[in-house]
Amino acid sequence: MFTSFLIKYAEIGVKGKNRYLFEDALVRQIRHALHKCDGTFQVHKSQGRIYVDALSAFDFDETVERLQTVFGISGICPVMTVEDQGFEQLGKDVISYMAETYGDKKLTFKVAARRARKNYPMDSMEINMEMGGVILDAFPEMRVDVHDPDVYLHIEIREKIHIYSTIIPGLGGMPVGTGGKGMLLLSGGIDSPAAGYMIAKRGVKIDAVYFHAPPYTSERAKQKVIDLAKQLSRYTGPVYLHVINFTDIQLYIYDKCPHDELTIIMRRYMMRIAELIAEETECLGLITGESIGQVASQTMHSLAVTNEVCTLPVYRPLIGMDKQEIVEIAEKIGTYETSILPYEDCCTIFVAKHPVTKPNAGVIRRHEQNLKDKIEELVKTALETKELIVVE
Ligand code: ATP
Ligand code: MG
Repeated sequence: MFTSFLIKYAEIGVKGKNRYLFEDALVRQIRHALHKCDGTFQVHKSQGRIYVDALSAFDFDETVERLQTVFGISGICPVMTVEDQGFEQLGKDVISYMAETYGDKKLTFKVAARRARKNYPMDSMEINMEMGGVILDAFPEMRVDVHDPDVYLHIEIREKIHIYSTIIPGLGGMPVGTGGKGMLLLSGGIDSPAAGYMIAKRGVKIDAVYFHAPPYTSERAKQKVIDLAKQLSRYTGPVYLHVINFTDIQLYIYDKCPHDELTIIMRRYMMRIAELIAEETECLGLITGESIGQVASQTMHSLAVTNEVCTLPVYRPLIGMDKQEIVEIAEKIGTYETSILPYEDCCTIFVAKHPVTKPNAGVIRRHEQNLKDKIEELVKTALETKELIVVE
């Protein structure tokens, strides 16, 4: 019955002069999301709206599911399109639309006609009245309510006639690519994929960096991160994943620094290296999955000490969330099952029994002096041997 979708977008509607940039980005993202679906689609802008027209047979559920991965879409309206063959035929079409969509449910409705083609012989008020009557005759359980109806039945008279009433919720947010690019520190945990999702939702393109510590972390742990990047890419588009071999740096820190400060010093080196890659790849900020108080390295004190090594802004979209709220996001975006696979994580391999929870920046800086002989060389080597994996 449905041959196209009207795409509703919320925030990008209010971008003034730049609106077309957002719309074009949205059209691009929709095309990208649909290119692997069964069926051929035409995605186009018309009179301030975005339409997805099916040009062949297509799988309705699959298509909707795909559209529900595109940031910037607030709602997806399946549209029945019919030829203009006079009002009587339109009445029949509307009845079959209502029967198919609602059966003869007890509900209230309002017809909202729009005459975009002015040579149609009835104006929108007349269409509303007449069509209301047609529906009431056909469905005795239904009632008209012009103030707060259950169903708004849209009838748009264009070259053809478009009929729609249901809105399937979209993800909201902004089209990816309209908000610059960020470097996500992606581990195998629950939090960082959720953090990447949250930032991408605001239109930011995501690159990622993973710190790998073979042989302490296995190939399977790395594969898990690749899998997570892949799941994220459903929403963000292709992810450039930089894999850094962190083993030598970690061992060196282990060798030279107090063990209760290992995690915090290691985190500082992760941030420094991530920032170097971010600058090289034109990312405008770093993104982590930290949340205040979740672990010792995420107290306000620890975050302050981690943060001081960065000059780029560090975005922490989960900062005020409880674990359960983060788990809900991870479940929604499909990363949770992968994240809980029990492979070792380079942050946990060398953790102290009693990590500092209130590190002092001065003390940490002093202890990092113990690394001065070799650390620059190790960071340089880590960057030179970095592996780039394009995940899509
Ligand atoms: P996650 O669930 O994202 O692993 P976490 O609760 O385990 O987070 P930490 O291990 O303290 O927290 O890591 C904090 C943040 O640092 C992570 O959210 C992630 O952004 C980054 N991070 C930690 N380990 C790595 C790693 N091996 N590679 C890349 N980023 C990492
Ligand atoms: Mg972790």
